[in-house]
Amino acid sequence: MQTHFLLTQNDIPTRWYNAQADLPEPLPPTLHPVTLKPVGPDDLAPIFPMELILQEVSQERYIDIPAEVLEVLKLWRPTPLIRAVRLEKALGTPAHIYYKYEGTSPTGSHKPNTSVAQAFYNKAQGVKRLTTETGAGQWGSALAMACNFFGLECKVYMVKVSYYQKPYRRSVMRLFGADVTPSPSEETESGRKILAENPDSTGSLGIAISEAVEVALKNEDTKYSLGSVLNHVLMHQTVIGEEALKQLDMAGEEADVVIGCVGGGSNFAGLALPFYRQNVLDGAKTRLVAVEPMACPSMTKGIYAFDYGDTAKMAPVVKMDTLGHDFVPPGIHAGGLRYHGVSPLLALLHRKGYVEAVAYHQIPVFDAARQFVQTEGIIPAPESAHAVRAVIDEALDAKEKGEERVILFNLSGHGFLDMGAYDAYLDGKLENYAYPEEMVQRALANLPKVEL
Ligand SMILES: *Cc1c(COP(=O)(O)O)cnc(C)c1O
Repeated sequence: MQTHFLLTQNDIPTRWYNAQADLPEPLPPTLHPVTLKPVGPDDLAPIFPMELILQEVSQERYIDIPAEVLEVLKLWRPTPLIRAVRLEKALGTPAHIYYKYEGTSPTGSHKPNTSVAQAFYNKAQGVKRLTTETGAGQWGSALAMACNFFGLECKVYMVKVSYYQKPYRRSVMRLFGADVTPSPSEETESGRKILAENPDSTGSLGIAISEAVEVALKNEDTKYSLGSVLNHVLMHQTVIGEEALKQLDMAGEEADVVIGCVGGGSNFAGLALPFYRQNVLDGAKTRLVAVEPMACPSMTKGIYAFDYGDTAKMAPVVKMDTLGHDFVPPGIHAGGLRYHGVSPLLALLHRKGYVEAVAYHQIPVFDAARQFVQTEGIIPAPESAHAVRAVIDEALDAKEKGEERVILFNLSGHGFLDMGAYDAYLDGKLENYAYPEEMVQRALANLPKVEL
């Protein structure tokens, strides 16, 4: 049986799909973090280059991918679509399971699909340096690579606990020439403020974003780059879903359900949005399922509200599913996906019923990853393992109902640099932890008071 569905380099999509053209209603405005009034392009110009700001609000259905960006994407694209036949057999399911494997990129995840585009537009505008935050280091590595290719300096604020516990992605970033600092740091006002309050702070994505944004705001030649959440990031990732549509066609199949894990929402959206387009424009009925950890349940337990993108309230305010901008993830959680919010576009589609969301405890997530390793041989990133859990449960449900369901998921990255998390699992050190409902309610009090 054929298991690999491969495209040639001539089949790489030449344009991105901008789902803003097909939303059930327009997205709420992005607000200034101080005035809480809608921002215009000029307000965002100190942080982002103009081309990306325009993409962020564009209503065009398609935007051409620049030739210089395609040239770099060709280092690893198109990625394979693989049928998980051995997993199907092990589960005894009549379901057909396919995965789009984004771990074949140089840094091991889907993230370079956007880092390359972002570095290109910054370089084209004459920017000299990009700053960013990173947790486990996937985004930092992807941006470091892209900056290296386009001749930009790269400054990464890495969440302190990861900086010390996950040294190898730090090495990857340094090898690409990036400057990596543990966050919170003494280098920025935001970092110093957090350290003054709590010298032992282990950091969070929200804090690291504040540091990176601050440096961009204070330096003329420096801009900031975000690896998820924003509309233009989701759009850059749609090459995944466009390729998958063609590959499923080669396999003679149509997807009944599309599944992806969700941190900020970019890998899930990258795969799912072209299927969303088929649903709304062509009457297809593919279910779109977003999977998140119980320890950071922004879609399943969060509040749909305007909130700050970062802890120090310097990043723009957007309406999203949020756990509150001062959310600090529990130390026991090993599976990544730790951002306090989710992409506004995804939050809207979720609230309007176009996207389903489920949350899983971490031990069953790692159980699923082990089953995937032992059947398909690939070690999923702990983030991607959330999707694997949901896929296995879908396949078992199809078995119970005797349905030949076609399941497609995004294997957003490999886990070769995340073996510490797997060790913790194998050594029985993981505990299931659900973020308490009261904490979400408490976060409500700190949301910005927005009057539009
Ligand atoms: C960063 C990352 C994620 C989560 O980010 P999204 O923007 O939600 O995709 C998921 N999987 C991998 C492998 C990642 O590196």
